[in-house]
Amino acid sequence: MSIEKDIQQKAEALGIDKCGIIRPEAMLGYEERLWERIRKIPRGESYYANFTRFADIKRIYPWARSIVVVVLNYGHYRIPESAQGRYGKSYLTDSRFNPDSPERKKIFALEKYLHELGIRTETSEHPGLTAMRWAARQAGLGIIRRNNFFYTQKGSWSRVTAWITDKEMELKGDHSLPECPAGCDRCIAACPTKSLSSPYTMNMGTCVSRLTASNDPPSGDCEINRQLGGWIYGCDVCQDVCPMNRGKWTDDDDFPGLMELGESLAPEKILAMDYEKIARKLMPKFFYIDKEHLWKWKLNAINAILNDSANIHKERISAMLTDEYERGET
Ligand code: SF4
Ligand code: SF4
Repeated sequence: MSIEKDIQQKAEALGIDKCGIIRPEAMLGYEERLWERIRKIPRGESYYANFTRFADIKRIYPWARSIVVVVLNYGHYRIPESAQGRYGKSYLTDSRFNPDSPERKKIFALEKYLHELGIRTETSEHPGLTAMRWAARQAGLGIIRRNNFFYTQKGSWSRVTAWITDKEMELKGDHSLPECPAGCDRCIAACPTKSLSSPYTMNMGTCVSRLTASNDPPSGDCEINRQLGGWIYGCDVCQDVCPMNRGKWTDDDDFPGLMELGESLAPEKILAMDYEKIARKLMPKFFYIDKEHLWKWKLNAINAILNDSANIHKERISAMLTDEYERGET
């Protein structure tokens, strides 16, 4: 059996959903796609130019001969009610830096196996060594849809991990995933900030995920704050509305520690916490907001509460418009 097949079988035995191997040159086309996006959005270069380093892997790792790519589905975990519509599900089930995560254990076990085979590897849990979704696409493990997310048969709820290796290898998967239906633009229409303004385009500067799950300063724009809705950390709107994700999320398993954390994730609870507690309870899991910016948790929580309350009053006001008194009567 070839070494590629060996690795794939090991990945399968570990419960990894998909595994493929590409040559570093397979990433070169990524830069072109990146520049297409940069040209389409305002200040695109300031957000995306840094990612061009992900295209030419050999520039940073001259010894690179292949890239092993694996995909792990996280769409099988129960999500606490207090977190629904407030936290991106990928962050709630994030395996990165989480020693208890079953996905991380599988990744480490495969890495150990690569080393046992005498293969030199390099990887990075964050921010990654290459453009993960593009690498997985190039490995034939799935497709990237108009909302920019990578999809397998299990929908978009997957995390991609990759290792650069010093071994010449190649193993492409194949899939029979259909393209997005002609004329479908549900993800674009639903994006609360219009950050997703056209297929395969996304303005990072106005994406709810970026605005909430980062150390960026608050926008100070009332309209954008309103558009953030009830989101506190991340946003799943363009994935939740996608018909290709319909019925794909299953509540089969508990992610370690998530249900226990559940109550603390509600915005009212965050407002009641002191910063020491936020650092202890939330920061290790949601690491995009660092210690110097813990105030952002309170800002996001209060913004979510204000938007919720505006929506409640909106409903009450519309109910009044249809009560038994005629309009205009005094
Ligand atoms: S994550 Fe939310 S804000 Fe960002 S592009 Fe998708 S729908 Fe728009
Ligand atoms: S909502 Fe429609 S256009 Fe958007 S990613 Fe899903 S299938 Fe494609």
